[in-house]
Amino acid sequence: MTQTDKIITRFAPSPSGELHLGHAYSARLNYDFAKEHGGQFILRIEDIDLGRCKKDYETLIFDDLKWLALKWETPVRRQSEHFDDYRQALKKLDDMGLLYPCFCTRKNIREEIEDSSRAPHLKPKLGPEGLIYPGICKDLSDDERAGKLAKGIPHAMRIDMDKALSLAEVPLYWTDLKKGAQKADPAILGDVVLARKDFPTSYHLSVVVDDHIQKISHVIRGEDLFYASHFHRLLQHLLKLDTPFYHHHELLKSKDGTRLAKRDMSVTIRSIRESGIRPEELDDLIKGYL
Ligand code: GLU
Repeated sequence: MTQTDKIITRFAPSPSGELHLGHAYSARLNYDFAKEHGGQFILRIEDIDLGRCKKDYETLIFDDLKWLALKWETPVRRQSEHFDDYRQALKKLDDMGLLYPCFCTRKNIREEIEDSSRAPHLKPKLGPEGLIYPGICKDLSDDERAGKLAKGIPHAMRIDMDKALSLAEVPLYWTDLKKGAQKADPAILGDVVLARKDFPTSYHLSVVVDDHIQKISHVIRGEDLFYASHFHRLLQHLLKLDTPFYHHHELLKSKDGTRLAKRDMSVTIRSIRESGIRPEELDDLIKGYL
């Protein structure tokens, strides 16, 4: 594990909706941590999903963060401009024999799961983020797989977790600022998708590649991504990428206890600034949601 001396943090929103108070909290934690340690704060635009991400939302992100009085390094890295970096990383894993094409649609995964009495080994396991992919396409014969590829059936690429773990020098660890040394349980999310059907990467792959390229020393993000970090640690090991320190912060919650989402328009940063609240008042507002 290598960690640079220089403190570099990042805020990495997806321009697929408006930022809300929870994003403001996360961005500020990253910014304040960098500034307290004489480090750098980076803004990264995570826009690999070209169908869902919009330029208008990106513009709004810049406006919101300026209103929050944050300053970031330039140029800003947009993931959509770096697909080649992710392709290269994907190829490395493929060359190691760790990927398999997955032709499943959501519908046929559901059907297989419902029918799991027919094939008990496909009985789904429940992971921390829902059902774990039951490995349907991992079990295809070479001929079946080649036939589907020849027909041009759209496919994602999944990691073969069993193979990856047999190759990795486990156990792997990372340092979590709040929880201390963490032993990674990379299989916790199952055979994760590393390249989606419609673009040559996924959140998980791009984020570890970028954190390495941008020399991020501390990844400060919501605790909803704690399980992702278990898997990211394995990707870093397989791809020989640096492992940053992590801090998984609390998520802001609505009055009913559910976590804030991009669709809650009342807590978007835009609506807050349009209501006349001043950025200095934000900390008190945030406290009400913690
Ligand atoms: N782009 C992710 C999001 O908007 C954040 C990813 C991360 O911080 O690792 O939720």
